[in-house]
Amino acid sequence: MSAAQMEAPNRYGIRVSEAQGVVKGLVGAIGNTPLIRLNRLSQETGCEILGKAEFMNPGGSIKDRAALYVVKDAEEKGLLRAGGTVVEGTAGNTGIGLAHVCRSRGYQLVIYMPNTQSQGKIDLLRLLGAEVYPVPAVAFDNPENYNHQAKRHAERLKNAVWTNQFDNTANRRGHIETTGPEIWHQTGGKVDAFTCATGTGGTLAGVTRYLKTVSDGRVKAFLADPPGSVLHSYISSGGKLIERSGSSITEGIGQGRVTDNLKPDIDLMDGSLHISDEKSIEMVYRCLDEEGLYLGASSALNVVAAKEVAESLGAGHTVVTVLCDGAYRYAERLFSRTWLRDKNLLAAIPEHLEKYIVL
Ligand code: PMP
Repeated sequence: MSAAQMEAPNRYGIRVSEAQGVVKGLVGAIGNTPLIRLNRLSQETGCEILGKAEFMNPGGSIKDRAALYVVKDAEEKGLLRAGGTVVEGTAGNTGIGLAHVCRSRGYQLVIYMPNTQSQGKIDLLRLLGAEVYPVPAVAFDNPENYNHQAKRHAERLKNAVWTNQFDNTANRRGHIETTGPEIWHQTGGKVDAFTCATGTGGTLAGVTRYLKTVSDGRVKAFLADPPGSVLHSYISSGGKLIERSGSSITEGIGQGRVTDNLKPDIDLMDGSLHISDEKSIEMVYRCLDEEGLYLGASSALNVVAAKEVAESLGAGHTVVTVLCDGAYRYAERLFSRTWLRDKNLLAAIPEHLEKYIVL
């Protein structure tokens, strides 16, 4: 193939020259994800609605980036040397990301998680080489909470580190140095707003910080919050922290406090949105039907937020959000009639999308 042929998109719109060369091991395959235009929603709103395809990371989620950054940070600080052990408290994607990164770099991984998690998650982490301790699900202020147990475990070992994803700002730095610049580059700077939900807050804070800095504050940022999270009320009340109550079907997001990852950037938010589970689940089904995208509920919530931000800005704007992971880990819930009925969400699925309720 000639150089000119490689530059031009082929008849399917694929530009071969955009493919990366050889990357060095698994960690080289983290990031550089596509930015996908959500065609139907863009047409509907008259805006460009773009989703960062984080489900394409090797561990299947946005958390591969944070996993890589917390491990690299520990190495750089001399806290982790060859053959060492990483300990983390996590119920999900961070553990999977860490398991991949630790295997590829020769570290042991120990995971503490609440014992309310599915056997499937425990099995997956164990088959990826992690030692897993399911412990009673108690609140953060209880010393037996899984995060505190993870910290104590690391303190008992030599050459071990508790990576502390919630308050370790290497997580946020990963998004300042990778996700943010990728979005800026992929849009050629033509981005008006960014929105996403928070678990640790690393993604929202890091991407917002980068986009605000590079655009001299022009890019607007909006926090999207599920039921049971306190951050929407924190922002809309001008900084009052209420007691956490309620829950959501959107796994991996929702927060009861302002983490250290979020703290430096929460004041940069131009606003926040509260997104109901009804809207999120409907968007899971719509993205599948209209775009062919098989997304988890936190991604769907982000897409709802992007649509609402686009509607409030008006036609002609570009709004970017994050497609955090796929639906593979949640299929037995999101596409199950019994589960939807139990959660009172059956009525949220429009009739023409009911054909996807197959489990
Ligand atoms: N979506 C999913 C599915 C997640 O697992 C997480 C992380 N817990 C997030 C979104 C939120 O990402 P962050 O921790 O960067 O706020």
